[in-house]
Amino acid sequence: MDEQVLKVQKIKNGIVIDHIPCGLALKVLKILGIEGDIGSTVTMAMHVRSKMGWKDVVKIEDRYLDDREIDKIALIAPTATVNVIRNYQVIKKHHVNVPEKIKGIVRCINPKCITNQNEPVEPEFYLVSKNPLVIRCKYCEREMNAQEIANNII
Ligand SMILES: [Zn+2]
Repeated sequence: MDEQVLKVQKIKNGIVIDHIPCGLALKVLKILGIEGDIGSTVTMAMHVRSKMGWKDVVKIEDRYLDDREIDKIALIAPTATVNVIRNYQVIKKHHVNVPEKIKGIVRCINPKCITNQNEPVEPEFYLVSKNPLVIRCKYCEREMNAQEIANNII
């Protein structure tokens, strides 16, 4: 099925983000700042049937991701894979991985946290658990779950 999906609307150069949990495609585009980006053609397939159940797929032409963007995707869609396409071929496949240290990607939900006090302190978290996803603030030790993380991606 994956191959079939890739074949249906092949893109020449860009990325295909596959195996996004159902309903999260728009959120993935949002954290990548794609909403207002008219330099890329975006194709979204929501609620696609796959061997592992339902999923969303996003294809973005002429756009590549840096490590920080891949980490952001991992935090909201830990099952995702990022395929890099050049000249219609998949040249690289990343299985996203939630980093042990999450710096400058998520805002702490504790309003009293030093990272929310207009101090020049960048938010930083440690990974507590991958499944279910839990991270802990380095400064105030507040823990955040997957939903809270998804709502506070910077
Ligand atoms: Zn904090």
